[in-house]
Amino acid sequence: MTRLSLEVLEEKFSELKPPMTAREARVEANRCLYCFDAPCIRACPTHIDVPTFIRKISTDNLTGAAVTILEANLMAATCARVCPVEELCEGACVLGGDHKPIEIGRLQRHAMDHIYDKQKLPFTPAPSNGLRVAVVGAGPAGLSCAGELAKRGYAVTILEKNPLPGGLSTYGIVVMREPIRVALEEVALIEALGVEVRTGVEVGRDVSANQLLTDFDAVFLSVGMGSVPHLGIPGEDLEGVTEALSFIAETKLAEKDGLEHLRELPVGRFVTVIGAGNTAIDAATIAKRLGAERVTIIYRRGEGEMPAYDFEYTFIKNEGVEFRFFSQPVGVVGENGRVTGLECLRVEPGPPGPDGRALPQAVPGSAFIIPCDQVIKAIGQEKRVDLFAHFGLEQERGYVKVDADLRTTNPKVFAGGDCVRATGDAMTVTATQDGKVAARGIHAWLGDNALAAD
Ligand SMILES: Cc1cc2nc3c(=O)[nH]c(=O)nc-3n(C[C@H](O)[C@H](O)[C@H](O)COP(=O)(O)OP(=O)(O)OC[C@H]3O[C@@H](n4cnc5c(N)ncnc54)[C@H](O)[C@@H]3O)c2cc1C
Ligand code: SF4
Repeated sequence: MTRLSLEVLEEKFSELKPPMTAREARVEANRCLYCFDAPCIRACPTHIDVPTFIRKISTDNLTGAAVTILEANLMAATCARVCPVEELCEGACVLGGDHKPIEIGRLQRHAMDHIYDKQKLPFTPAPSNGLRVAVVGAGPAGLSCAGELAKRGYAVTILEKNPLPGGLSTYGIVVMREPIRVALEEVALIEALGVEVRTGVEVGRDVSANQLLTDFDAVFLSVGMGSVPHLGIPGEDLEGVTEALSFIAETKLAEKDGLEHLRELPVGRFVTVIGAGNTAIDAATIAKRLGAERVTIIYRRGEGEMPAYDFEYTFIKNEGVEFRFFSQPVGVVGENGRVTGLECLRVEPGPPGPDGRALPQAVPGSAFIIPCDQVIKAIGQEKRVDLFAHFGLEQERGYVKVDADLRTTNPKVFAGGDCVRATGDAMTVTATQDGKVAARGIHAWLGDNALAAD
């Protein structure tokens, strides 16, 4: 495969939404109607006071705008880049009907870039209240919870099994949406609030659940989801079969060390991606941009049932990625230990399954092979049921069972983020809001307990 030049890599892997200039931001901010009971605030899961921060941008008060944003959302630099704003704040903007909605995401980024570029973080640690909380997992939910608790005077320790903190913001979200730098700057903000982040520590292996329950006054579990499961089809161990999350993580880590490192990453000439969710779309985009000649997404249902957002689907089609709907993989074929193709069966919609959707039914004699030299599996993520069992928590279909305050069936343990999201979209912004809600719940509970002990 021909190696991509640095210029091409820069074009393909720079952020999809460029930053605004100061003038662009002022002009855009001045279009806002500063609505009363603004629908954009209601549509934001963290309820950022959008009109107030936009008004501050219009008067060049960028630090003030950033403070307004961060008061509601400590992961605001990430959210500004990765939120599906079309479905959230911008989708709700009153100007969306006849005009163009306000570019809320890019304005938020403008304010956040100001804070991070200046390295002037607008919060300081609060005086200690003498209580200790352990947070398991340094993704958006854990960081948000830790930051909110630190603002209230708790001594918080985050335990993270990966070498780098940030969860999927660091390892999972494609670099064109969020470079690692942004995720790590956000971790630094949380550390500046006095939070201790210990990486390379896996709870359940290096530290036991019991140890945490003994050493800390409360525990917040924000462990996200696990790796991509096995398909259970022959040939899955052939060289050239990879899973989407590690494929994406490699590009994130390579970009961190300099764009030129992306050139070293192996990618097939003909790539087949299994699955049609947002992770599949991301993996297919990366493969295409690394130089794959043909990328095909295969999905066992129809176009209308794809879990990916509509705007993602439009985007990926523009990238030149092809789709094979109603196709079920049944085996990876290969030669000399390497992938040469993916064998599929054609399927048709059958009777409804437990979730009400038509169950795909294989059409006998319809086998066909898609020739390819790389297969990427993007069929969801495993659940961390073993860890939840260590804490003795009740679960619901592999997710931790929580109440409205995000308290689990153990009163000392709260949980949030992807690991509790049995229904609804799992997004950075919902994980961030969970961190806030759990911090409030922990504070209310420990406050009550302290009073009871007096
Ligand atoms: C490929 C991909 C692309 C995405 N793109 C977007 C997007 O564009 N926009 C968007 O809003 N959302 C996106 N998401 C979803 C978003 O990233 C998640 O909803 C969000 O990161 C969830 O945050 P979390 O804190 O719950 O979990 P995570 O971010 O998964 O963090 C969990 C952390 O816990 C750690 N951990 C797990 N087990 C242990 C243990 N036993 N001990 C210690 N640490 C542990 C993990 O290593 C990890 O760092 C994407 C997800 C994926 C997979
Ligand atoms: S809905 Fe649109 S116009 Fe109204 S306050 Fe929000 S961003 Fe401004």
